[in-house]
Amino acid sequence: MKTHVLVLGAGFGGLELSTRLSESFGVNLDVTLIDKSDAFVLGYSKLDLMFGHTMLDAVRLPYRNFVKPGVNFRQETITAIDPNSRRVTTNIGTYEADFVVVALGADYDMDATPGLAEANFTPWPVPRGYEICSPHSQGATRSLASAGPPSSARRRPANAP
Ligand SMILES: Cc1cc2nc3c(=O)[nH]c(=O)nc-3n(C[C@H](O)[C@H](O)[C@H](O)COP(=O)(O)OP(=O)(O)OC[C@H]3O[C@@H](n4cnc5c(N)ncnc54)[C@H](O)[C@@H]3O)c2cc1C
Repeated sequence: MKTHVLVLGAGFGGLELSTRLSESFGVNLDVTLIDKSDAFVLGYSKLDLMFGHTMLDAVRLPYRNFVKPGVNFRQETITAIDPNSRRVTTNIGTYEADFVVVALGADYDMDATPGLAEANFTPWPVPRGYEICSPHSQGATRSLASAGPPSSARRRPANAP
């Protein structure tokens, strides 16, 4: 039976690892790559979106276009990880693997900075950032600064180097 590697998250880390595993082992390894999204978007392209230099469809790179030998992509949302049994639960089902790689990125702790949530701060999610800031969007166009944290949250501490 083939070794099964479960890669959680198809961002920079998960995509790079899956590609390298495919290039090294091909179909001799069974890699399952899971992400809640159906497409990869490079962070910097979101700036082009916000300033109206491009359109959303132009920067979305659908995972179905990245076909790598031995790698199966699943669009599912991970809801639980049991590191002891190497069992992963998603909104669709459960997986067990010989190796589980967690590459789920980071979330913002909005409550850690007073005023951040109230200011409707949206770090980088594409659809929301696009709606708020892009001249191509239907809603009112707002500047990056007005979509960001309040000035009190951006101020550097007095003892900062
Ligand atoms: C504009 C911008 C510029 C940047 N510039 C730099 C730079 O110059 N240098 C640098 O080192 N870093 C930079 N970064 C940071 C860099 O993008 C991150 O360090 C990198 O994305 C982290 O990779 P990752 O694989 O850990 O997570 P990510 O790339 O964030 O991928 C995580 C993936 O997990 C998926 N996911 C999350 N939760 C779930 C779930 N519950 N179920 C299913 N899937 C889930 C997400 O959809 C995502 O695809 C930049 C980021 C941005 C936004």
